[in-house]
Amino acid sequence: MKLYNTLTRQKEDFLPLEEKKVKMYVCGPTVYDFIHIGNARPYVVFDTIRRYFEYKGYDVNYVQNFTDVDDKIINRANSEGVDAIAIADRYVEEALKDAKALNVKEPTYAPRVTQEIKEIIEMIQTLIEQKNAYEVDGTVFFDTKSFKEYGKLSGKKLDELEIGSRIKLDEAKKNETDFVLWKPKKEGEIAWQSPWGEGRPGWHIECSVMAKKYLGEEIDIHAGGEDLIFPHHENEIAQSECCNHKTFAKYWLHNGFINIDNEKMSKSKGNFFTVRDIAKEVPYDVIRFFILCGHYRAPINFSREAMEASKKSLDRIKNCVNNLNHLINNTTIQNITEEEASLDVVKNIESYKNAFEDEMDNDFNTSNAITCIFEIVRLINSVANDKSSKQFLQKLLDEITSLCDVLGILYETEQQSLDIDESQIEELIAKRQEAKKNKDYKLADEIRDSLKEKGIILRDTSAGVVWSRE
Ligand code: AMP
Ligand code: ZN
Repeated sequence: MKLYNTLTRQKEDFLPLEEKKVKMYVCGPTVYDFIHIGNARPYVVFDTIRRYFEYKGYDVNYVQNFTDVDDKIINRANSEGVDAIAIADRYVEEALKDAKALNVKEPTYAPRVTQEIKEIIEMIQTLIEQKNAYEVDGTVFFDTKSFKEYGKLSGKKLDELEIGSRIKLDEAKKNETDFVLWKPKKEGEIAWQSPWGEGRPGWHIECSVMAKKYLGEEIDIHAGGEDLIFPHHENEIAQSECCNHKTFAKYWLHNGFINIDNEKMSKSKGNFFTVRDIAKEVPYDVIRFFILCGHYRAPINFSREAMEASKKSLDRIKNCVNNLNHLINNTTIQNITEEEASLDVVKNIESYKNAFEDEMDNDFNTSNAITCIFEIVRLINSVANDKSSKQFLQKLLDEITSLCDVLGILYETEQQSLDIDESQIEELIAKRQEAKKNKDYKLADEIRDSLKEKGIILRDTSAGVVWSRE
């Protein structure tokens, strides 16, 4: 398995620290609003990477944090006249709802900064003792000059950064590039007691602390959006490697941006669409599928048309699976027939499955992996019909669903489960067939219409009744 490592700027073989285990840390959102589809991208792509490791037999320990104390949270709390914790609680809950609806597996741990203050203070103390950090009037800074390798992830050089910096030198700092580990309390802000007075942590320290606490001093994979490479991840490396004297993460993975009109979607620019709003127009599984249709490192342009096109594509896969389920429930032939045994289809599916794995092994190319799934859909549609045996159909179904499960793209979205589930649809189709047999066409039409109202379309084909969602 090869993955692109931002640290070495090349694709490398994945060699885990411990056999068949993956320790993976993904930077999570700052919780002051609903997540937008840009924030959803790291959720979906790193969940898919986790699923692929699991499919390959790895045991994945997956940590994703919530930044629940930050200027933006405090500003929002002040503007609503509530406290910062209440804002954070609200949007942690909303982010969890979106993640679940996007079929993102629960992390092994999902720590929150406000619950890790003791460990944060301890790490800052260690950094001060080791002369990697210093305090000035209640603010603690990391001394970037104390870490010789500063800049190794982003490829930036300290002297260039200093010259290039347009920010006026903060008088308290020794070097322009030094960053804050602990900041003193301002009036009306949430704060904790510390050896440097009341205050709160800077942003970067939380991830070094949480990764160490939940995964250990050395981890396999650290991931997040590419905007985090500098300064966030660069600073994390400096903190962790100075504190622990070990290489922090072996592989650094970064997803590309979701753009609007070729500009990064972000809350601060106001050019964003929340996942919640998009889900009013298309189901959540389409949003997930849309994200996976691009390679995770490439930029994706968001548009309604692209989302509609993703819906149509995903429907092709869903219709194939629905059709198989329907045929399995209705066939009277149990065992694989001689004719089926003589077909090359199972062998051909196997070769597409290998191609799927090759694509995923090549830096998780979900885009090409999806193309392999479409080839399998085409094969299945050409052989499955009402003369097929249950055993044969089941085999086809197992093959396609196992690959779709790696991508997490076939699941019942909340919208669907609110409406009608598959077994209810099958039941109504059977009732309609019975009505037609009894020449009760009025009842048959009523059933067809009531399904249509719920977005289920029936087609009478030579292979029997096939249903699909609108
Ligand atoms: P934030 O809440 O801004 O800290 O972002 C949470 C995660 O979403 C981080 O991993 C960011 O890198 C990622 N992210 C933010 N905006 C985008 C975007 N437009 N496209 C892709 N990833 C993004
Ligand atoms: Zn982080």
